[in-house]
Amino acid sequence: MENLNIPELFGSLVFNDKVMRERLSEDVYASLKKTIDENVKLDETQLDAIAEEMKNWALENGATHFTHWFQPLTGVTAEKHDSFISPAPDGGVLMEFTGKDLIKGEPDASSFPSGGLRATFEARGYTAWDPTSYAFIKDHTLCIPTAFCSYSGEALDKKTPLLRSMQAVNRQAKRILKLFGTEAKYVKTCVGPEQEYFLIDKEVFSKRPDLKYTGRTLFGALPPKGQEMDDHYFGVIKPRVSEFMRDLNNELWKLGILAKTEHNEVAPAQHELAPIYSTTNIATDSNQLTMEIMKKVADRHGMVCLLHEKPFAGVNGSGKHNNWSISTDTGVNLLSPGNSPYENAQFLLFLCAVIQAVDDYQDLLRLSVATAGNDHRLGANEAPPAIISVFLGEELTAILDAIKNDTPYQGREEVKIKLGVHSLPRFSRDTTDRNRTSPFAFTGNKFEFRSLGSSNSIACCNIMLNAAVSESLRQYADELEASENFEEDLHTLIKRVITEHQRILFDGNGYGEEWIKEATEVRGLSNLKTTADAMPHLLDKKNVDMLIAHKVFTEAEIHSRCEIMLENYVKTVNIEGLTMVDLVRKNYLPAIERYLYRLSQTTVLMRQVSDNVKCKYEVSTMERLSELTDCIMDSVISLEDALREFKEIDNIFRSSEYVRDEMLPRMDTLRKYVDEAEMLTSQRDWPFPSYGQLLFSVN
Ligand code: ADP
Ligand code: MG
Repeated sequence: MENLNIPELFGSLVFNDKVMRERLSEDVYASLKKTIDENVKLDETQLDAIAEEMKNWALENGATHFTHWFQPLTGVTAEKHDSFISPAPDGGVLMEFTGKDLIKGEPDASSFPSGGLRATFEARGYTAWDPTSYAFIKDHTLCIPTAFCSYSGEALDKKTPLLRSMQAVNRQAKRILKLFGTEAKYVKTCVGPEQEYFLIDKEVFSKRPDLKYTGRTLFGALPPKGQEMDDHYFGVIKPRVSEFMRDLNNELWKLGILAKTEHNEVAPAQHELAPIYSTTNIATDSNQLTMEIMKKVADRHGMVCLLHEKPFAGVNGSGKHNNWSISTDTGVNLLSPGNSPYENAQFLLFLCAVIQAVDDYQDLLRLSVATAGNDHRLGANEAPPAIISVFLGEELTAILDAIKNDTPYQGREEVKIKLGVHSLPRFSRDTTDRNRTSPFAFTGNKFEFRSLGSSNSIACCNIMLNAAVSESLRQYADELEASENFEEDLHTLIKRVITEHQRILFDGNGYGEEWIKEATEVRGLSNLKTTADAMPHLLDKKNVDMLIAHKVFTEAEIHSRCEIMLENYVKTVNIEGLTMVDLVRKNYLPAIERYLYRLSQTTVLMRQVSDNVKCKYEVSTMERLSELTDCIMDSVISLEDALREFKEIDNIFRSSEYVRDEMLPRMDTLRKYVDEAEMLTSQRDWPFPSYGQLLFSVN
């Protein structure tokens, strides 16, 4: 492999600040920069100049097409390519790209989910340039990050509400900072998403129709060796995987994505990639691109990258950790305890805002990560439970307790804490987090939300998190702006918030049975186990009111989203059910029958040879396999009944409950019998590669 000049490679396919400064006139650059940094509306007279330079740069870098790149509610990104060519009078072509092409596109919205918005509005949609996220070149195409809306302005994508939620944080946080006299032109949230994934050999993958159709294995007995030896986590990376990672890093670096950390994960064939954090909407775009490029690069290396949350039963699934913080334009992290008494008090107020937000909007956070795939993971011993709680760590908890109870803080030095007057006792960051079982952990200067599934767009949870924190901040600002004694009232407010939201704070083992009991029965926290349970809460009045008040969603958008998310859930499970029936009838049952035939033939022949043979293996295997084929047959019929009945339900809430209560349990039963049969059937007759072959396919 050639020696790479990484600084030169980095961002070489991105129309970034450096390129803009080099290529745009001073005025145009200054105006665009202001738009990017401060979210000020762009001066439209400069659009043509920006478009022209973007095109020239793209052509020089090998692009022939351009596309508005957007994130519809399907969960993946969408693009429609147009070439730059335009006919010239002399019969040749000119390469053209105008300001109009840059800011607005009009893809046909009718094949993207709109969840009822389309019924009331036009089928057409439009895409609008998001200048805060840099354009880039991918596959010879200039990709322009855009928002995607209906003609009447309703958001049909994930970017629009995310940008709105960031504006909400900016609005409310600035009010708070003003009270403390902290200078800030704007406040933004930042995210670093850690991405988990599996790598499987392409050859082996191609022999598993369940993986191909649904992204996860619907059948498969556990291999003799799984993750119990803990020998994979942080283990030596295999050469083939290492080559993949190197190639992946290069591709990501070219696109200006700050890929930083890579290591093996807990399960065999499982890995993780973490970028350096960036502004939330950029981190979101980058994560969508990262997932896409992971798949592409894996393919180049003869592998398949699985982003499903639970590709293998009985083996750890894949999640995504959303490391989140709030900072000012000058890079001051508002979740970092400061050095002066005022900074400390300000830190505690922002900390309170997050604690209250998580408590008041547990349901929104939970449903923001709810998908059919992630339901298999949350609460399954490896991922945080479906119950949302906050981990603060020993020292910070002790500080909050001291404030709450007006008692001296028993830290390294004993002090009574009076906010705004005394410095906070220093606490060391390392002690903040090593509790991996908490869904929402404070990790020194950021919060880590760990419930996301590996394939989730991080937009969803950040929209809710930003909105909920904006709401706490709004309440505090309303109260404190009216205060006549700021320090006194600040202290009272912080004390009150800590007391009122005590129930959401939990430092113990989030995986334990006792916690589920305590959380639900004693503390009254919600435990929304499945997507069908969680998603309808999007429509709860308190949630709708809050999201509308902060202009994150309109009421119509909320209803449409709820419907789309539930539709995704039922469609996913429906496809899995149909795939199971198909595979069992066409492959698994005939395979078992083939084996039974051989066994019975052998038994008859052996008995002809001698009366003394007992044929213990043959007879006992045949007996059990024959019982199992009966059970499998009954279960298939029962699943087919459910699939038929499901089609008759015309209400999305009822169909999602039906999926939860009837389809998924019947699928589990069917799987259980088939997996047992796998253990009894000769490998030669088994139609598909085993878990062992899949999980240890990459060497
Ligand atoms: P780990 O969680 O494995 O201990 P780190 O805490 O170093 O690893 O970082 C995990 C992720 O958190 C990285 O993507 C990192 O860039 C991101 N991160 C670090 N600091 C911040 C911050 N202030 N705001 C948001 N994300 C951050
Ligand atoms: Mg982490």
